[in-house]
Amino acid sequence: MNLPRRGCLQVYTGNGKGKTTASLGLTLRSVGHGHKVFIIQFMKGSDNYGELEAARKYLPGVTIEQYGLETFVSRENPSPEDRELAQKGIARAREIVAGGEHDLVILDELNVALDYNLVTLDQVMDLISARPTQVELVLTGRGAHQKVIEAADLVTEVTLVKHPFYKGIEAREGIEY
Ligand code: ATP
Ligand code: MG
Repeated sequence: MNLPRRGCLQVYTGNGKGKTTASLGLTLRSVGHGHKVFIIQFMKGSDNYGELEAARKYLPGVTIEQYGLETFVSRENPSPEDRELAQKGIARAREIVAGGEHDLVILDELNVALDYNLVTLDQVMDLISARPTQVELVLTGRGAHQKVIEAADLVTEVTLVKHPFYKGIEAREGIEY
């Protein structure tokens, strides 16, 4: 008898580069085994991310949906639309997580959406507790909430040591987006 796989809650946080790309690396590994992957990107609303086109063109087992605007969200003063989209995103995320049909569910930048109060801690904790045991759930983004860290099985904090941005190298295609 095949026992169902054991899923974990993973968190990628910290100020260094590599949180979203870590989750995309997991995506590649997971689809290689024929698993189904669902990615929800919070606070992002641009077609310009390489991962979107890669999934469309080459990875039928991967679905990516974005719930954000193309513009940056103001921490002090997020627009009503920023909030509305994040709320749609978290409702969709709960549905996908609880549905249990995807082996790997990635909620990209959800930590930041919580930190900016676009979603509530209750909503995030409710979503975490709605995870069926076989689903691997991954949350990314700076400033992960302490309660989320406590609930997680795996937490990686990416430390900024150097970033080319600080010597004037702007975001590069295929590297940052
Ligand atoms: P990536 O998407 O490359 O894995 P990330 O998810 O760790 O990065 P975010 O905190 O989501 O990084 O930041 C969004 C963007 O800012 C990305 O394009 C990322 O490459 C870039 N970035 C990450 N860390 C830094 C930093 N310390 N300084 C400047 N830019 C950064
Ligand atoms: Mg990121």
